[in-house]
Amino acid sequence: MSLLGAHVSAAGGLRRAVERAESLGCEAMQIFTHNPLQWQGRSPSDSEIDAFRRALLACSVKKVVAHAPYLINLAGDEYVRKRSISAVIGEAELCYRLGVDALVLHPGSSKGGARQHALESLSDALEKILEATRESAVVFLLETMAGQGDVLGSAAEELEFVLDALDWDKRLGVCVDLCHVFGAGTDIRSEGGYNRMISSLERHFGLERVGCWHLSDNKGALGSRVDRHEHIGEGEIGIIPFGMLVSDERIPDAPMILETPKGGIGDEGNLALLRKLRGRM
Ligand SMILES: [Zn+2]
Ligand SMILES: [Zn+2]
Repeated sequence: MSLLGAHVSAAGGLRRAVERAESLGCEAMQIFTHNPLQWQGRSPSDSEIDAFRRALLACSVKKVVAHAPYLINLAGDEYVRKRSISAVIGEAELCYRLGVDALVLHPGSSKGGARQHALESLSDALEKILEATRESAVVFLLETMAGQGDVLGSAAEELEFVLDALDWDKRLGVCVDLCHVFGAGTDIRSEGGYNRMISSLERHFGLERVGCWHLSDNKGALGSRVDRHEHIGEGEIGIIPFGMLVSDERIPDAPMILETPKGGIGDEGNLALLRKLRGRM
């Protein structure tokens, strides 16, 4: 079933993120451990980490995921790839210390090169990361992408290739972003369309591999490869698949994280809507 939550800011300290999630009544939350436009952040002190863990134990949040910085490209050229590998290892170690369950990663970009080669580089990079973090329980989730430019991961086949190349390691999974899935061309606007997406996920990965869901509507049209987040039900997707997802009993406990704009009805309004949809369907 669904663990409803939102991406919350950690401005003012990681512990503040827990407080924000708690005040929204989140059952799950997503954070950036530092500014996502930078390779590396200040590493938090032991007491900050302690405060985060204690706050987490005492609140409504049951699962936490972190989103990796945007600069990371595990399929990039040698220089970027090397930097990305060590950044992800550092991020995973921090997640482990924080008690964060999973780290969401963008699959990266082929930057104009052959896609197959890029997918192989990505698999190889992930193998090194898994090896270097064997002690850790953190799961790496590859996010489905809308497919702008040379971005990998707009087709389930590509992510399946990577998981397959790594022998379906237990610490790998996917993060399904409904806004991206729609932008990439899967029509989820009807019940039938939603069910076809679920069957496709079952076939490619198994639903237990979907460790996180990202929820936002899309301002862009079906198949436009556009990724412009909108409040639930106010974009081109509409309310139907969101209502079906949050009440879908086939789905094992997984964070369903709002990535809707912070203005307008905000997280509060979107969460209230999702709770209502979950109750009714
Ligand atoms: Zn993302
Ligand atoms: Zn997006």
